[in-house]
Amino acid sequence: MTDPLSAAFDAARDAFAADEVPVGAAIARDGSVIAVAGNRTLRDKDPTAHAEMLAIRAACSALGTERLADCDLYVTLEPCAMCAAAISFARIRRLYFSAEDPKGGGVEHGARFFSLKTCHHAPEVYGGLREREAAELLRAFFQARR
Ligand SMILES: [Zn+2]
Repeated sequence: MTDPLSAAFDAARDAFAADEVPVGAAIARDGSVIAVAGNRTLRDKDPTAHAEMLAIRAACSALGTERLADCDLYVTLEPCAMCAAAISFARIRRLYFSAEDPKGGGVEHGARFFSLKTCHHAPEVYGGLREREAAELLRAFFQARR
């Protein structure tokens, strides 16, 4: 079975192939992957169709709940402020991400959403997993588009 982070990377590569910004996310519960998604903002013509948002929606739909308290989210890039908020609302237990995003991130950068007083649930956060691989994928994508 694919581990959640590898599933997220596969989704990121699929996004790349579809000309979407190569970010992928997966949600795991009790060691199994229950949702996987890649960015789909172009295809869906939806600025909120980030990998994390789609994975959260799919996981909630699969479990029939709006809370993912015993779930962990894996994503290849530091989530933006919108996704960080969604992660908080979903009560995700742990967040694992790969590359940092100094320009658009909202966890270690920018809004630092989970540190805000108005944030009522913060997951445990673990960054830097397979960071180089994720950063390389993004670099290749933006280089090819120039
Ligand atoms: Zn996002």
